[in-house]
Amino acid sequence: MSFANRRSFITILSSVAGSLALRPSRVAAQSAAPSGAFDMTWLDQMRGQHKQLYDLGGQDLSLLALAVINEQLARTIALPPRGPGIFGPEVRSILLSLNPEQKDRYLHPVLRGEKATAFAQTEPDAGSDPGGMRTTAVRQGDRYVINGTKRFISHAKGADFLQLVAATDPKKGSRGGLTVFLVDMDTPGVSIAGRTVHMMGDVTYEVMLENVEVPVENRIGNEGDGMKAAQTWINTNRVNQAARGLGVAARCLEMIASYAQQRVTFGRPLASRQAVQVAVADLYTRLQAGQLLTYRTACKFDNGTLQRHDTFMIKVFCTELGFEAADRCMQFHGGLGTAMEMPIERMWRESRSFMITGGPVEIMRASLAREIFALYQ
Ligand SMILES: Cc1cc2nc3c(=O)[nH]c(=O)nc-3n(C[C@H](O)[C@H](O)[C@H](O)COP(=O)(O)OP(=O)(O)OC[C@H]3O[C@@H](n4cnc5c(N)ncnc54)[C@H](O)[C@@H]3O)c2cc1C
Repeated sequence: MSFANRRSFITILSSVAGSLALRPSRVAAQSAAPSGAFDMTWLDQMRGQHKQLYDLGGQDLSLLALAVINEQLARTIALPPRGPGIFGPEVRSILLSLNPEQKDRYLHPVLRGEKATAFAQTEPDAGSDPGGMRTTAVRQGDRYVINGTKRFISHAKGADFLQLVAATDPKKGSRGGLTVFLVDMDTPGVSIAGRTVHMMGDVTYEVMLENVEVPVENRIGNEGDGMKAAQTWINTNRVNQAARGLGVAARCLEMIASYAQQRVTFGRPLASRQAVQVAVADLYTRLQAGQLLTYRTACKFDNGTLQRHDTFMIKVFCTELGFEAADRCMQFHGGLGTAMEMPIERMWRESRSFMITGGPVEIMRASLAREIFALYQ
């Protein structure tokens, strides 16, 4: 870790330990993901984000530092797992790739805390498979006319604008047929049509777009760049999801180990039972392995050697580990495990959701398998 990184790291850890207060004006490389022109490689794009955020007043944290911070935060239930974190507004790579004029209108107000934004890709008939989306953007002169419905959109209510993915060439689907637009929420034809409350407490919204006219200047990048833009940030986000899984696993393991040595049933502590011993041994081993894999992935990102499949592996390994640790923790605490005043049930609910959002684990495994087959051709 460089000196600048270490200094930022210590500053942030102190602020976390001190108050867990939100500091919206302080911008750091929270969602380390791509930046710059779309013709850069996805890795270059992601790495560029650190620098860009630094130029904008951020703290130039390495992804490793962020992963460690997120891991520590996930040991508590003090902050919601999604939404604004201790680093201020989440700035996805898409906003960092805007042209200077777009940055003035959209990125800078977000960083200053003056505007809020939401990312809208998922649809009723297109979640894991965005290539099947039905929202279309049809060019008519100097504007696009957008029609469609988006579902499960976090923070749509209260947002000033959407980063909206729409099909500009539906036949090409995710292979060059999707484009991202900046859509102001007060544009005629944009409306919130419904809401869904999820078990983690998150609320998502359905957004309708009926003949919404968006000027060409609000298109991000070129037509067909949408998939790259929408997907690249997710790779770094997966490191943070993995780190969350590790934090939950570490806390749950501590709780199991401590409770199992105190709680006596049938005249013996739970810790003397083989079922508990096996669970503790396996969780501890998997936690060590998950940490090494995640830190290695973050380091590879920081030194520019990350391969795409690295993030598929940690997403699967660590989100499943987090959930299983919470599940075992709940089980070994018996009735206490489901009590609302304990953190366990909340960790259980939240960690379960990460096996779906940001790419379900089945899709990660399928993508990983494709890369493995390519390696051994
Ligand atoms: C709390 C929350 C917040 C969200 N916020 C946003 C947001 O801000 N913006 C946004 O655009 N979206 C958001 N989403 C949507 C989220 O990204 C999608 O739910 C996710 O991508 C899965 O899509 P889906 O729900 O349509 O599931 P589907 O695509 O219908 O898949 C259902 C299940 O089928 C299985 N499956 C699917 N395809 C395959 C396959 N090829 N092989 C094997 N198994 C498969 C998986 O188990 C998957 O979980 C959010 C979702 C939640 C729950």
